[in-house]
Amino acid sequence: MEELQAALHARGLSLSSFPDKGRSLVAAKDFYPGEVIISQEPYVCVPNNSLTESRCDGCFSNSNLKKCSACHVVWYCGSSCQRLEWKLHRLECQALAKLDKERRKLVTPTIRMMVKLYLRRKLQNENVIPVTALDNYSLVEALVSHMSDIDEKQLVLYAQMGNLVNLILQFPDIDIKEIAENFSKFACNAHTICDSELRPLGTGLYPVVSIINHSCLPNAVLVFEGRWAVVRAVQHIPKDSEVSISYVETAASTVARQKTLKEQYLFTCTCARCNKVGQYDDIQESAILEGYRCRDNGCSGFLLRESDEKGFVCQKCGLTRSKEEIRKIVTDIKALSDKAIKSKSLGNLQEAAVLYKNIENLQKEVCHPFSISLMQTREKLIEILMQLEEWKEALTVCRSTIPVYERVYPGCHPLLGLQYYSCGKLEWLLGETDDAIKTFTKAVDILRITHGTNTPFMKELLMKLEEARAEASFKLSSIEDS
Ligand SMILES: [Zn+2]
Ligand SMILES: [Zn+2]
Ligand SMILES: [Zn+2]
Ligand SMILES: [Zn+2]
Repeated sequence: MEELQAALHARGLSLSSFPDKGRSLVAAKDFYPGEVIISQEPYVCVPNNSLTESRCDGCFSNSNLKKCSACHVVWYCGSSCQRLEWKLHRLECQALAKLDKERRKLVTPTIRMMVKLYLRRKLQNENVIPVTALDNYSLVEALVSHMSDIDEKQLVLYAQMGNLVNLILQFPDIDIKEIAENFSKFACNAHTICDSELRPLGTGLYPVVSIINHSCLPNAVLVFEGRWAVVRAVQHIPKDSEVSISYVETAASTVARQKTLKEQYLFTCTCARCNKVGQYDDIQESAILEGYRCRDNGCSGFLLRESDEKGFVCQKCGLTRSKEEIRKIVTDIKALSDKAIKSKSLGNLQEAAVLYKNIENLQKEVCHPFSISLMQTREKLIEILMQLEEWKEALTVCRSTIPVYERVYPGCHPLLGLQYYSCGKLEWLLGETDDAIKTFTKAVDILRITHGTNTPFMKELLMKLEEARAEASFKLSSIEDS
């Protein structure tokens, strides 16, 4: 661990331990918005391949893929990715090739990640793959597993998965219990690798990034550049303060966030936002995000359940909405949602769009204008309208989400930046150049901090902004000329 501490110190960081939350990453110097705090390649990673979707094992690209001809499990986009992975895949390939067809079907991405973990440890022990202070198995050993908090059913599942890993590896001295514990470590520590637009591509274990604790009010953000994990400051982080990122979607009520964190990461968050649970402004916030709207359309009040349980009272004007009325609309929404999901999965996009518009209208009647479920419905509707190339309608819906995004996310959140970007692209496409310039500029202001400026994704955004500006000044000069 001394080596790790020294390597972190060289990067302006230090490793600390707090009694209530274990290891933490602490800034040993000031970090400013947009500054890279740490970047790391995964110890192991796998693409989220399934029967319907495949990606390259090296770069997660989904084009020009060829299956490894020996094991028929792994895909590559070309020889450079295959070469990059060969030291490890050579061993994995031999092991997978020995499996019969039925067993090979059981090799899920998680099983593969575990197989790769043990193979990488072996290759580092044999000095085939170099060991560094930030890249070695002892960092994996130091990760939390929360084994004592796992229920019996999950333990049995991990043991079964461990047996399969054992069958694949056939190492003479392997410990099934240790594999099970490592599966639990994956569950608490592995990160979903996403593209620049935060669409999931795969899973990776980044043992140093995993030291960073969660906060529902984080001062840093994790994004991926290819398979590199990059953590950037989103606000000024003064020397000696803890670096934090969010493990979960922060646009949720305190109760919902706490539930997700407990279920997925097995801990109770004690951040400044969570500590407000039960206080009046936290109750108000939850009622806005998840509760109902006032019967008076002009009133922006939030509703709380009446003490006699008959209905919900607006905390601003005092009007009551009956439980029955709300229950009826909620039941209708549920029925429409089931239909919409089915239509979408069957590819009936026109029908799905109509259904989601009906859901949106019902939710507008019943949900607070800043409600999360209304925002999620609009997200689904935008996705379908884009597929249908209904750009004008997509822009209208996209614009209606912006005030909600601005409210639920802090000023510098990648999802807010990405929403501005989507909106800007639609404005640009529809020839609304002046609006596009404004919206692209807002996107750049956020994404240059969360995503840096050097990736192809950001270069494309910056170029779009330049093009929009050039077009606007051309339009202006042609008006002046005429
Ligand atoms: Zn590749
Ligand atoms: Zn192979
Ligand atoms: Zn929290
Ligand atoms: Zn009211």
